[in-house]
Amino acid sequence: PQPRSQPLSTNSRKKRVLIIGAGPVGSLTALSLDKRGWEVEVWEGRTDPREESSHPQALRSINLAISARGITALKSVDEGLAEGLVGEAIPMRGRMIHHKHKHTGIGSKGSKEDGRRKEEVRREAQAYDPKGGECINSLPRPLLNLRLIQALPPSITLHFSTKLSHISWSDSTAYAKPSDSDKNAGESVQPNEDERDDTNTRNKEARGKKCQFDLVVGCDGSWSKVRQEMMRVERVDLAQRYIDHDYVELHMPPKSESEREREGKGGKPAREQVGEGEFLMEENYLHIWPREKFMLIALPNKDGSFTLTLFCPKDKLAELDRREKAKVFFEEHFPDALDWAGEERLLSDFEKNPRGALVTINVKPSHHLSPASSASVLLLGDASHSMVPFYGQGLNCGLEDVRVFNSLLQKYDVGNEAVEGERDERLVQALREYSEVRNGDLEAIVQLAMDNYTEMRSKVVSPTYHIRRVLDSV
Ligand code: FAD
Repeated sequence: PQPRSQPLSTNSRKKRVLIIGAGPVGSLTALSLDKRGWEVEVWEGRTDPREESSHPQALRSINLAISARGITALKSVDEGLAEGLVGEAIPMRGRMIHHKHKHTGIGSKGSKEDGRRKEEVRREAQAYDPKGGECINSLPRPLLNLRLIQALPPSITLHFSTKLSHISWSDSTAYAKPSDSDKNAGESVQPNEDERDDTNTRNKEARGKKCQFDLVVGCDGSWSKVRQEMMRVERVDLAQRYIDHDYVELHMPPKSESEREREGKGGKPAREQVGEGEFLMEENYLHIWPREKFMLIALPNKDGSFTLTLFCPKDKLAELDRREKAKVFFEEHFPDALDWAGEERLLSDFEKNPRGALVTINVKPSHHLSPASSASVLLLGDASHSMVPFYGQGLNCGLEDVRVFNSLLQKYDVGNEAVEGERDERLVQALREYSEVRNGDLEAIVQLAMDNYTEMRSKVVSPTYHIRRVLDSV
């Protein structure tokens, strides 16, 4: 949609939007509303990723699979930005299934003998779109976030290390407290009584930043503070469910690094020695080791490494509390991954890396109109819909939220003007329709994500699945 920026009349000013969270969804929201000529301010609890000193936070990275849904959304705001990001991603044209049973003559194979065991691992490629060649794209989350923040123009006011602590709905004012630690940036803290009481806002004022807004957009992730503040005053239906499985991230180095380690040279190779094609496994695939009750996946990185993620029931993970037990587990279920990643590295990653919980969250409605003032609130991204990652659509869907909201602003011809104390009825129509049209879609995709866990950890190995894919391709 084309932005609608207009000259302001004498009794009006620019619409003021405060965005909480400069994750990918918050950054894209900021960019899109700035293009509409709104006055945009962003608060982010974490430090500025553009500054060298904050790089350590980027080291633990989840790779994201960005699909057509996310790319279309990015393009709807900034075509060049979307194309740049696709250029930095690695296309994954299908799944590479690492079967457990012995080689039967189909597909490629790798074998392993280490004196104690001889295991043959059959690998099977399953193209996502054999006819059209469509693919998903592997991109490190810190890189995606950095590029989106770098794309924000100076007209946007950005505050890092600034955490929303309270919203006073009576005068549409948000209050922040400085957050000097990365660790607690995204964490959700129940507001205490003092914070619940609007009359105490003057104390907040003394302690941190504040911002008066026409619209506040909560892009602050699964444990959204904006959502908490909205729930104090709005009848919100919130469905939240944890699954039994946690995840742990592991690392498979590029080929050259792995070879150096094997030769006992240790350390990383010089940057120029790491080139294209230095991958230990086929690079243009999402690798999956489906093992019914648990699974391992791997996504490629540009430097030749893979980020591995083990999804496993919590009880099972708790049983693997000693290195020897973990070694037996990986040898039994993922011998090729253990071999390629290197036993020492993989087991030490497994020991020390944190376990992440997986949660599904659904919020209805996504918006609220303050009865005490002319202000409104909207939740986008994980703040409104967290889903388990098995469909690879959580972020894609969050980016799509921005596209859908933007198209409704266009449909209702919402301008960039605000008159003090007056509600913009066109904006109200856009917000109402957003909640109405988006909710059914979000409920459906949250469920599809849950269903795809069974698909990924077991159904992809079934012969009927394979026959169906072959029939699809003719
Ligand atoms: P977030 O990325 O959570 O960003 C929220 C931001 O708000 C953070 O920067 C945080 O610091 C900030 N914040 C929080 N509270 C405050 C506060 N009070 N004040 C100020 N700032 C605050 N999705 C995909 O599309 N494809 C995938 O392949 C994929 N894989 C995944 C794999 C795993 C293991 C997991 C766990 C998720 C995966 N997802 C995937 C989902 C994806 O990570 C999320 O959907 C996405 O990060 C949501 O983006 P967001 O901007 O809404 O929230």
